[in-house]
Amino acid sequence: MPEQYDTTYACAERLDAEDPLAHMRDEFVMPVGPNGEAEVYLVGNSLGLQPRAVRTYIEAELDKWGRLGVKGHTEVDREPTFPWESYEESLNHQMAAVVGAEPEEVVVMNGLTVNLHLLMTTFYRPTQERFKVLIEEHAFPSDHFAVASQVRHHDRSAEEALVAVSPRPGEDLLHAEDLIAAIAEHGDQLALVLLPGVHYYTGQVLPLTDLVYAAHRAGAMVGFDLAHAVGNIPLGLHDSGVDFAAWCTYKYLNSGPGATAGCFVNQRHLGRTDLNRFEGWWGTDKATRFQMETVFNPIPTVEAWQLSNPPVFSMAPIRASLEVFERVGGMGPLRRKSEQQIAYLDHLLDEVLKGRVESITPRSLTERGCQFSLRVVAPGHSGRGVFDALDAAGVACDWRHPDVIRIAPVPLYNSFADIHRFVQVLDGILS
Ligand SMILES: *Cc1c(COP(=O)(O)O)cnc(C)c1O
Repeated sequence: MPEQYDTTYACAERLDAEDPLAHMRDEFVMPVGPNGEAEVYLVGNSLGLQPRAVRTYIEAELDKWGRLGVKGHTEVDREPTFPWESYEESLNHQMAAVVGAEPEEVVVMNGLTVNLHLLMTTFYRPTQERFKVLIEEHAFPSDHFAVASQVRHHDRSAEEALVAVSPRPGEDLLHAEDLIAAIAEHGDQLALVLLPGVHYYTGQVLPLTDLVYAAHRAGAMVGFDLAHAVGNIPLGLHDSGVDFAAWCTYKYLNSGPGATAGCFVNQRHLGRTDLNRFEGWWGTDKATRFQMETVFNPIPTVEAWQLSNPPVFSMAPIRASLEVFERVGGMGPLRRKSEQQIAYLDHLLDEVLKGRVESITPRSLTERGCQFSLRVVAPGHSGRGVFDALDAAGVACDWRHPDVIRIAPVPLYNSFADIHRFVQVLDGILS
């Protein structure tokens, strides 16, 4: 049954009262806006809020370091600490649940861009005939730089090796069939397809499974950057057949600025000794690691791609955060609330702001997560000016050059009242 919404504050209050996840908001620290009140924080797509439990997890490891010194590597100490020498193992199961993977396919390590490089070292192996990489024209700059420099690393120029697919003239969104057609067109020469799961600028969700199928049919490897997808939309990485994926944990995974990133390698590539891989001691067999032999025996999981021992203080917050995801029952319940918040904000945009603000994000729920990319079209107003006025009024959004205000109601901590307040403030600014 379609929900009945109206534009009154009472409607927002009713939706919050009926929301089974409403109490989760109390588990996060709410920033205070310039007016001294709790901010309407709609920028979890850029930096997720701090789960209260993070402090406990970090302090427990600090305490353990103080008490145990080097023995903290191996000793099973009091909860919620975890032995540092296998700290990554404390995250695999919960992270795998969030991305729809087997635990052995997922590891937390490095930063997102570092992981893209490490994975391309394995999965971008250009030959004389097959050397092209397909990306989207306005890829997130770091992804573009990573791909272009990989291509140059293999003594090719970006001009000859990069295939960049654009939206059609005058449009903002990519057409999946254009991507699939480009994959087929460059088929024999295509070595790798690297695309986002959710586009950072428009919020568009790309059809993972269809794109994986197209890439594999062309004989190419395929990887996804899931920075804006993880913790936002349900994913089925294992079943999608994608070869590899990488994501950061500070956006929808709420693990703090620069927190350690995630990566996925499909089961079919695990335990292979014929793969080219940059190696470090944390990727070799745990049973023999400390015998200090110089023979590399890859761990039969994605952990083989690890180089260094895990940075415990930037991984402890991820444990606190993933516990929150587990407690709410995973991405299913979160997405159910998210879809309701999306529909509610659609309704308010239609009823209150029509003709003054337009969303470039796809309308269909299958093609978007919780992000809205808004353009101010009201005559006499600049997008940047509106963005600054929102900020001054205690509504945190983010600005993306040249003309987009991004907002993301996050079901873990944003209320329906937040959404109502955002629309009310925006209406005031544009009146
Ligand atoms: C946020 C984001 C990044 C950031 O990369 P880091 O290596 O974490 O600094 C890269 N790519 C995309 C698509 C992003 O959204």
